[in-house]
Amino acid sequence: MKYAGSPGVLKVRDLDDAGWEELTDGVIVAAQPHGAPTRFPCNDRPSNKATYAITMAAPSDYYVAMSGRSVETRRRGSVTEWTREMPQPMAPYLATVQIGRYEARDPANDVVVIAPPDLSGDGYDASFGRQPAMMEFFESKFGPYPFDDYTVVVTDDPLEIPLESQSLSTFGRNFASGEWSAVRLVAHELSHQWFGNAVTLSDWRDIWLHEGFACYAEWLWSEESGLDSAATRAAHFHDKLSGLDRDLLLADPGPALMFDDRVYKRGALTLHALRLTVGDHDFFDILREWVERFGGGNATTADFEALAAEISGEPLGTLFDSWLRGLSLPALPPSSSQR
Ligand SMILES: [Zn+2]
Repeated sequence: MKYAGSPGVLKVRDLDDAGWEELTDGVIVAAQPHGAPTRFPCNDRPSNKATYAITMAAPSDYYVAMSGRSVETRRRGSVTEWTREMPQPMAPYLATVQIGRYEARDPANDVVVIAPPDLSGDGYDASFGRQPAMMEFFESKFGPYPFDDYTVVVTDDPLEIPLESQSLSTFGRNFASGEWSAVRLVAHELSHQWFGNAVTLSDWRDIWLHEGFACYAEWLWSEESGLDSAATRAAHFHDKLSGLDRDLLLADPGPALMFDDRVYKRGALTLHALRLTVGDHDFFDILREWVERFGGGNATTADFEALAAEISGEPLGTLFDSWLRGLSLPALPPSSSQR
């Protein structure tokens, strides 16, 4: 069956624009949560995972970065065809393409950065140069990296927020600052490869399974890199959340609050509360088994609760009820080693 169309951005009430968007000199595809159909025919549901083979043609002075491993790059006159394959199941919104006047950095490394040729310096190195160490650290905590390779695209335009796609993350050049506000998001997007991309929610109401986990990964990296510990960051954000409105239900925030910062922070705090309750050993076993058991497919909050109870052998219903299904902010529990 043949399809044809002119890609563009999709506007939906209550949600940010999504899909194929033009940059100053290139294209970005930011499809979460509903933008995939702006460039290919699909049943755009996170549970509709499939393997992909994609070929894109672009003028030869542009670099085309896509989700998946490189199969072939063939130049035909002034046009180059780029073919990529994603052999692991992928949700439609995670199939991205990024086009710009980029060059590939360190193509032999585990993490390849695709960036404008003029982008370099201490800030760039501090933001993006520690990703191989980040990768090693996350593998030690979450289990093996779930895909064949990892690419980070840095666009020439500044971007308000970075974005995860399967095996590829996208940042604006404003994130090459080396500041923690940028580094934390480099860690955040990488961790989405385990939490969001390998294990994908079945329904968008469970968005905390992506964003809470990625936010907690930031705190883990903070501690690993010699900055504030996860416990310090948890205490800080618990304090901050206690001063904000209590109208967000973590287990079902609704489309308007789906990407509200409270989903991220309360989601991360839920994991920290679980960690304090079951102890480090069981907590990281739960995270690794989550990816091992559900990687390549979809999962729900109920699946996570059942797995946590199974591994810890503890009744966790009250804990999850209060964090996920209550509006008030529970206190952080005492550490399991202190009980
Ligand atoms: Zn995220």
